[in-house]
Parts: sequence; structure tokens; C-alpha cells
Amino acid sequence: MTKWVYNFGGGTAEGDTSMKNLLGGKGANLAEMASIGLPVPPGFTLTADVCTTYYENGEVYPDGMDAQIVDGLAHIEKLTGKTFGDAHNPLLVSVRSGARASMPGMMDTVLNLGLNDETVEGLAKLSGDRRFALDSYRRFITMYSDVVLGVHHHAYEDVLEMHKDTQGYMLDTEMTAEDWGTVIEEFKAITKRALGRDFPQDAREQLQGAVDAVFGSWMNDRAVVYRRLNDIPAAWGTAVNVQAMVFGNMGETSATGVAFTRDPSTGANEYYGEFLINAQGEDVVAGIRTPQTLTKHARIEMGETAPSMEEAMPEVYGQLAETFVKLEGHYRDMQDIEFTVEQGKLWMLQTRTGKRTARAALKIAVDMAEAGQITKDEALMRVDPLSLDQLLHPTLNPDAPRDIIAMGLPASPGAAIGEVVFSSDEAETLSKAGHKVILVRIETSPEDIHGMHAAEAIVTARGGMTSHAAVVARGMGTPCVSGAGQIRIDYAAGEFSVAGRTVKKGDIVTVDGATGQVFAGAVDMVQPELSGDFAKVMDWADEARTLGIRTNAETPLDVQTAIDFGAEGIGLCRTEHMFFEADRLANFREMILAEDKAGRESALAKILPVQQEDFAAIFRIMGGLPCTVRLLDPPLHEFLPHTEKDIESVAKEIGVPAGELMRRARELEESNPMLGHRGCRLGISYPEIYEMQARAIFEAQKSVNTEKGSAPVVEIMIPLVSSAKELEILKARIDAIAEDVGALDYIIGTMIELPRAALRAGDIAEHAEFFSFGTNDLTQTTFGLSRDDAGRFLPDYVAAGIVEKDPFVSLDIDGVGDLIQIAAERGKAVKSGIKMGICGEHGGDPASIKFCHDTGLNYVSCSPYRVPIARLAAAQAAITGNLKS
Ligand code: PEP
Ligand code: MG
Repeated sequence: MTKWVYNFGGGTAEGDTSMKNLLGGKGANLAEMASIGLPVPPGFTLTADVCTTYYENGEVYPDGMDAQIVDGLAHIEKLTGKTFGDAHNPLLVSVRSGARASMPGMMDTVLNLGLNDETVEGLAKLSGDRRFALDSYRRFITMYSDVVLGVHHHAYEDVLEMHKDTQGYMLDTEMTAEDWGTVIEEFKAITKRALGRDFPQDAREQLQGAVDAVFGSWMNDRAVVYRRLNDIPAAWGTAVNVQAMVFGNMGETSATGVAFTRDPSTGANEYYGEFLINAQGEDVVAGIRTPQTLTKHARIEMGETAPSMEEAMPEVYGQLAETFVKLEGHYRDMQDIEFTVEQGKLWMLQTRTGKRTARAALKIAVDMAEAGQITKDEALMRVDPLSLDQLLHPTLNPDAPRDIIAMGLPASPGAAIGEVVFSSDEAETLSKAGHKVILVRIETSPEDIHGMHAAEAIVTARGGMTSHAAVVARGMGTPCVSGAGQIRIDYAAGEFSVAGRTVKKGDIVTVDGATGQVFAGAVDMVQPELSGDFAKVMDWADEARTLGIRTNAETPLDVQTAIDFGAEGIGLCRTEHMFFEADRLANFREMILAEDKAGRESALAKILPVQQEDFAAIFRIMGGLPCTVRLLDPPLHEFLPHTEKDIESVAKEIGVPAGELMRRARELEESNPMLGHRGCRLGISYPEIYEMQARAIFEAQKSVNTEKGSAPVVEIMIPLVSSAKELEILKARIDAIAEDVGALDYIIGTMIELPRAALRAGDIAEHAEFFSFGTNDLTQTTFGLSRDDAGRFLPDYVAAGIVEKDPFVSLDIDGVGDLIQIAAERGKAVKSGIKMGICGEHGGDPASIKFCHDTGLNYVSCSPYRVPIARLAAAQAAITGNLKS
């Protein structure tokens, strides 16, 4: 019989942390905490296999599950001494989702389940607090009706607000037991009116409804969107946890809170968290009441007056701090925790590896490695290479003038400039149209995910550091200021006001998520400095990796940026980008229009000195590092004007009749320019172009050598080769120019970017000193998929599961990867020492970098801002490789 239900509690558990796939993250960690002796309310987990089976069978539960739930309930009853549905001593439970990967706020939860008109009286007697019992019941009715019965919670909140108004109350805590009693009757009436039947009173029926709803929420729209954005397969399913309730709302000695064992924003080794006295967990996450800090230190730092937990509940705080140490020691990583204090007793409700900003990830990894808690290799594996991107971008220039308009919590670091929008739909629409937007909301909820993704930064008026906005923004690496309490947002008018000023939709603001400040207008930014923990992790990565890291760059600025980020050479300098510059375009056009070789040569002679200076500028920066310079690649017609107006103005500029220009542009036009007269095919047709380029390169190398005493070894690269013969012909011509110039050290190699080149790599290697895999074209030609047009339908392919990811972003290892492997083997068989690298966009993608490492390439080349990412990804590839061998 399949086991569908796993119990935990009372110092033991049937599961453990290694069973995350089956029990979900929450279930696995509850089991683990229970078995290491932490105080966990007893419960059971319905496995993720239940969810998968349920959907596979057309929403029917597997056989045997019901009986196992009955046993699970008996287990909780035994440990708590309470009985589910019993009028005198009722057991109440929570029902929570918990998938393998954390999906914060995306799925449903029901608390206080088991309450009805009778058990609420039992709870009142047992607790000696009727008000508490009724408060719990009204929460249950609202939540259950909303989540399970589909009656929107606003209906209940309106009734509550009206009741408070009539009584002259400001806060829920002013409500008396009698008040709650009245409100509950009205709540039940709302449910009955909406559904035509009474609110369910039977505890088993309630439980079944909640379990259905939580499994059902795996397929709700926001969960589906979240999975798509985070690459979580639908087939994983969610587990469901049913657990005895403990109450943070049982008076002034009760509380509920969330905490991190280190600061998730900065990584500082300080406890970090928030709690609310006399409240349930949902109150903290929903941002309805502003929570108090956990530690005295944080309270003082934030200028708060309400006492911290350390001050208000010193004894329980002490236990909590001990638990933090125990949990970090056990999991060897920063933990994100939920806890409840019920009448002075601490209960742990959740622990998981805490999400953190890139900055915090670096600091925590370095601190833990230096303290000997983890190894350097583990530290390197703890940092997501792509997250480094967050640190490579500009921050506010400290000297720039600024006009602060609002202040909130520094919920997610980074700075951004954009126009204010007030709705997530609008944020999405405007961002698709190319605008940079700042999403301003009273608070965010899971329905805002698409807008939060589209926004450059997020500002909320309500909510703490663990509010939805803060948690989700940190996960996305988007700057966020939460709880900017002074701003008053008027959604209808499309504006917010603060201290007598009004900011309207479309106005530009600057957000600094590191300080929690919002400024009017655009504040000047500065480039980041990669020092401290960042530099340390990069050094460790360099020690661990075996792959070389080069860059794709052709302007001195880009080259310098890449060198500053640690590039060890240029892997691709696309020379065609140099021809597009205005001052050489006219000469280049003259060259294309020339009727004969002599005309072309005279135009090229004008371009030569300019090209030479371009190369010299780069070689000066590169010192002794290798530079791969690729000869001209794109089709000639790209250089000619196309619209009538452009043709006329260009004709005037270069002094030829407009008709002539138009005729030539038409002549050169191709049906499939991507497969046309480009790359080495141009070199074959017009030898003088590549000859001019080779001359410019060799001359530049010589002049820089004279000037500085050293110059890079140049690696001349021929694009779009499909046969050995092409390379043989072009190489001979370049060698002849080298001879003529008296060139310094150089080698000649080729791009492998066509399937035929990959297959014939053996013959090609006879004439090449190196191969550089051009995986942009190789992906295009292997799939027969146009690079320029595939974006229109590839999302359908990803959605249908035909390809896992866009193959232009992450290498198609099965197909394109196979060709690379074949080429590498065949090339090496002919020339064992042949150097190999990759220079397609994939050179900056961690999964593709791992493939390059495993295939034994010598280097990857990527755009400048990807260099640090590639350094770390290459280190991770080496570490995982070592672990396997
Ligand atoms: C490639 O095809 O992968 C490549 C690097 O060249 P380009 O993108 O310039 O065609
Ligand atoms: Mg290419």
C-alpha cells in the first residue's frame, strides 16, 4: 500500500529533510525539526504524490488516502490529548500547502480549522478566554469562506469595519467577546446568502474542503504564473501539511513572528525579524498591523519605540535565540523561520533556507567559510551566479543632488529610476512598451506578481521587511521600499501625496532600496565597485575554475569594463560593429557601391587607418592578454539605406545618384540574409576587405608594441566557415599580408557555427589554430530556426514543453551540444593541442558554461557584465565535476 501520509511531532517524525520532493520543503523541514527535538506542533503531511496522482486521475484522490488521514488525525489527537470535532476538548488544525520549491503566498492556507458553533464554546472554556475563542472562529469563517467556499473576504471585512465604526473602535484588539459574537452571526449570514446553505459545521467536512482547496490552489492562475517565471514544473505537485494549531492570539503572553538567523538584506550575522503580540501568523505577513522588531539592536537602529521581543519577552526570546543557533548548526545555512508563542511557550512552525539578496549571499558564504562552518567550495556553491547581476549595476551617486519625498524600510537593495504607476497591469503594459516603471501600491499581494516583475522598483505604503512586497522583491532582485507610511495613495486619481506634495502617474522618481528612500526626479548613478566579499568570492572562484573567461567586446569602454570584471582576454571582437560608426560608414558605402576592385581598394584605403586606430585602442588596454578579432561578418546590404528618404540623403552625402544607390541596394538584397552572403563568403568574393582588415590588425599590433613595449598575441578569426577549403584560401591571403607587414605573433582560427563545420572539424583543424563555437548561429542552423524571428513563437514551444528553455539563451545540450562534442573530438583527433572556446551568447549562461567545462573547452567568452557570473559558474562547474569524479 502506498504511503500517502507522513506523521511528525512528539520528538520523532516519519520523514526528514532529504524527502523534500515527496513532503515539500515545509513538510520535510517540520519533520526534521521534530526529530532534532525542537518544539513543533504535531501534524502530518499529505505527500506531493497525492497531488500528482489527483491531477493525473482527473481530480480523484488515490485509494487508501482517507484511512491514512484518519490515522494521521489520531496521531495528532494522541499527542495533544484533544479530539477533532469534540465539543468539550476540540483539536484545531491548520492546513497549509508546501511544495518542493518555495512559492511564497501563491497557494492557499486555512487556519483554526475544526471550529464550529459548539467547539468554539469548548475552546472558550478550555482557554478561559471567550474573546480569544470567538476571535479565532471569526478568522476561520473568513478564511475558510474565502479560500474554500469562494466567498471573497472583502464582504466580511466590510461588516467588521462597519461594526468597529459604530462602536467607535480603531483597532481589532478593541473588539470585545460580545462584539465578535455579533459579527460572527453576520459573517455566517453572508456565507449563507452567498451559497444558499449554512457554513459547514462538521469538522471532517471542513478538513476535506480545506485539503481540496489547497491541492486545488496548485493550479490557480498565480501559482501557474509563478511556476512559469521560476521554472518549476507542474508535475512536482504540492504537499499539504495538517498540523495542530497553536495560538499566538491567546492574550498578551502570546505572539507570532518571522525571523532570519542573519540579515537577509545585508548578510550581517545578526538575528533579524519581526513579531506581533496577540496575533496570528497571517497578521504579520499581510502587513495589516506594523510589527515590532525582534532585537533591541534593530529597534534602536530603526528608531522604533515599541519594545522589541528581546525586551518584551526576554525569556522566550532567549529560547528562540538558542533555537536559531541550533538550526544554523544543523542546516549549516541561514534559516528563515516562523514561530508562535502560546502563553509563554515557544513553537516552531517552519524553517527553510532563507532567501537573500546577492550581497547577503556573498557575505554569508564568506563569513561561514571564514568561520570554518562550511568549506570554500561550499561557499562558492551557495551563491547563484546569475544573482551577481544585482551587484554589477549602478547605485546612487553619493554626491548627486537629490530631493527626498518619502522614506520607508530598506526592503530590497538596489537603485532604480522610472515613472510611477499604480497598478500591476499597467506596469506590465508600459514595461512591454519599453518604459521603465516604478510600481507604487498600498501593499502587494500575489496577484501583483506580473507587475512586480515588470517594474524597475517597488514602493509600498504598508507592510514590514517580511511583507509580501519585501520578500518577493528580494527574491527577484528588484529594489523595494516597503512601509513608506507617510504616503497616501489615491488609486482613483492616479496619484500619491506626501507631506503636501503630489506625485502623479507618469512622474519620474528614483528609488533606493538600500536606504528605503524615494526621490523626486532622476538621481545620478555611479558604477559599482567590486571589492570586499565580492572580490573574495571571485578570487576563490578563480582558484577553483579551470575554464578561461574571455569577453565579447569591441569598444574600448566595453573592453575596459570586462577587464575590470576579470576577463582574461577578448574571445570575440565583432569588427562589423566598427564599420557602423558614422565617420566610416560613408567610406564603407563607397566601397560597396564601387564598380570594380580598384574602386573598392581606394575606398578601403580610406578605412584602413581608422580601423587600425580602433584596434590599437583595444590592444593598448589588453596588454599581453589574447585578443580574438573576427573579420567582417554581416551581409553587405545591411550597410545600405532602405527607405527612399534615407537613400536620398545618403546619395547626397557620398555624391552618387539616388537611383544608382537604390539599384545597388536592391541588387544586394537577399531572401534569407542570415543564410546569405555573409561571413567568410564575403571574404571569398571580395578578398580586399579581409586583406585590409588583416593589415589594420597587424599594423596596430606593431604600433602598440613599439609604443608600450608589448602587444597582445592576435588571434584572427574567420566567421561562418563551412569547409576546410574556405579557411585554407583565406588563411593563405592573411599569411601573405602578415609577411608583407612583418607581423608580430598571431594565429588564425575559425568559428564553428555551422553544422557542416562541426561535422568536418577534422579537415578544418588542419588549417586552424583554434575553434570558437558560435552557438548563436550554430543554434539557428541546427534547429533551422531564424535568430531574428524565433522570438515570435518560441514561447509556445517552451509552454508546450518541446524545449525546456529558449535555446538561444541556454544551450540545447542534446542537439547543438552534440555537434560541439563531435567537432571537439574530430578537431582534437587531427590537432591535439587545438584551442577551443565558445563565443555565442551561451558563454554567459551558467548551465551552458557547465557544459563547456564538461566538454573540455579552454574558455568561454561572454559580454562584459556577464564576466563575474561566468567566473563563478565556471568554478561551480569545476567543483561539481570534482565531486562526481
Ligand atoms: C555566433 O554566431 O554565435 C556568434 C558569436 O556570432 P554572431 O552572433 O556575431 O553571429
Ligand atoms: Mg555567428
